[in-house]
Amino acid sequence: MSEQSYDAIIIGAGFGGSSCAGLLAKRGLKVLLLEKNAVAGGKALSLSKSGFTYTAWVVIGAPVQDNLYQVVLDDLGVADLATLIVPGQQGSIYRTPGDKFVRMPDAPSEQLDPTIIFDWLEIEEEKRASALQFMAEMTLMPPEKVAELSGTNFDSWLTAANLPTPLYAFLVSLCCDGMFMVPVDSLDAAEAISSLQAMFLRGGGVFCKGGFGRIAEAYCEGVRRHSGEVLMSTRVDEIIVEDGRVVGVATDKGRFEAPIVISNAGLQPTVLKLVGEQHFDEIYANYVRDLVPSYSLIGYRYFLDKPVTDAPFGVIFSNTSPWSLERFNEACAGKASREGVLYYEVPSNYDPDAAPEGKQMLMTGSFCPPDPELSKQELEAWAHAGEQTLFSAFPELESCIESKDFYSTRSVSNATRDAVLPGVGGETIGLGQIVGQCGEQKPSIQAPVRGLFYVGCDAGGTGVGTQQAIESGMNVADTVGRYHDDHQAS
Ligand SMILES: Cc1cc2nc3c(=O)[nH]c(=O)nc-3n(C[C@H](O)[C@H](O)[C@H](O)COP(=O)(O)OP(=O)(O)OC[C@H]3O[C@@H](n4cnc5c(N)ncnc54)[C@H](O)[C@@H]3O)c2cc1C
Repeated sequence: MSEQSYDAIIIGAGFGGSSCAGLLAKRGLKVLLLEKNAVAGGKALSLSKSGFTYTAWVVIGAPVQDNLYQVVLDDLGVADLATLIVPGQQGSIYRTPGDKFVRMPDAPSEQLDPTIIFDWLEIEEEKRASALQFMAEMTLMPPEKVAELSGTNFDSWLTAANLPTPLYAFLVSLCCDGMFMVPVDSLDAAEAISSLQAMFLRGGGVFCKGGFGRIAEAYCEGVRRHSGEVLMSTRVDEIIVEDGRVVGVATDKGRFEAPIVISNAGLQPTVLKLVGEQHFDEIYANYVRDLVPSYSLIGYRYFLDKPVTDAPFGVIFSNTSPWSLERFNEACAGKASREGVLYYEVPSNYDPDAAPEGKQMLMTGSFCPPDPELSKQELEAWAHAGEQTLFSAFPELESCIESKDFYSTRSVSNATRDAVLPGVGGETIGLGQIVGQCGEQKPSIQAPVRGLFYVGCDAGGTGVGTQQAIESGMNVADTVGRYHDDHQAS
């Protein structure tokens, strides 16, 4: 049994863990990064099959300009290992009340042009001036005003503005449903608005050649280039706590010592499983148990014998797509339609090496609950709703399918965090999106056990999933760097 000593151990090479580990190694800490999978990337890992390469499921990056993927690639000196791609034109489709599927017109710039959007959504002339004013005020709202809206749900804020229904559906389904994966009447308005501002002003739709996982793989190489160690295929079974402070971890490859452990394994699995709730007081353990995760995406990867679209990615939505908590709960109970927004991505339309010549792979994602133990019947019902939307929008697609792979909440949980509570574990993003878990109420990155920190989409960042995880990685690296310096000095 090996026993080695480090300044900091990071559990998990998702976007949060790998960026944090790289930045701490660059700062000079002796770092060990442990990842249970054979590849890095977690919820945005890359896969390949029969000449196709792709992120495991639909992952659309935003914002484009000044994105954090590139900031950390540059900072770690590994920009040579991952190439970002901005396809420009997207292929979002509005399903009109008359049941026509209308693709978003070409927009000349990366920034959102409201006139193009209003034409596409068939917004009546007389409603355009107030809609335009609303869009301008929201996009240019100063940060202190945005922060004041923390604690308000985004739906009540939008409803007060009395928007045309298609514009409401655009803001909720095309933009926020996918960014946050929570019902709009639970979504924190401040979190929503600051992310919409970033997307509208700095563009949406950035990808990575070879799939998003390449970025996390590059960050792992950044750890190595800065003299840190990375052990893949190494599962942490326990975070060892003695006298109220962490002293290391136990893994299937032996024990490793460190006075600092940073967990990217999810806040709930970290507290309730890896550390064990006996090391926390009851109030904190109950707080952790009651945190509400985002919903999940479910879908297919369709391997097609010929291309069916030139769109690199898109969102298919209608006026009835937006998910409220009530509609979602009713859909879960089989009392309301399971049809909502559908996301799709076609990697070879932004990365020519992503598919064999003349073929195409199109993948989809639509909402379902985060429960990794959903029954076969429930999975089929949710997947069927998404598939019906896809086949209606692309009627020729069904006849081009050579094969298809299904992914579910179980696939997401297996690739990322363990399920430690009933109904939880397959969440798409994490914990920090809803009213009561955002702004000042976002879970702290520092646990009430000395030397234990959380990184990733449960704490420490804001914005769209992958960006949020990296922002958390940067913030946690700063905090832990200072903690380490203080620890050394005392
Ligand atoms: C279907 C789907 C679609 C998505 N679409 C988008 C999108 O369009 N745009 C976007 O920006 N984001 C999207 N996301 C979200 C985004 O991928 C995540 O928010 C982000 O990647 C999460 O990063 P993270 O660092 O928080 O953790 P994770 O990605 O969860 O990484 C955690 C890592 O820890 C490892 N780990 C866990 N437990 C252990 C252990 N005990 N020992 C060792 N290692 C362990 C895991 O294997 C994993 O690699 C999507 C996610 C999914 C699932």
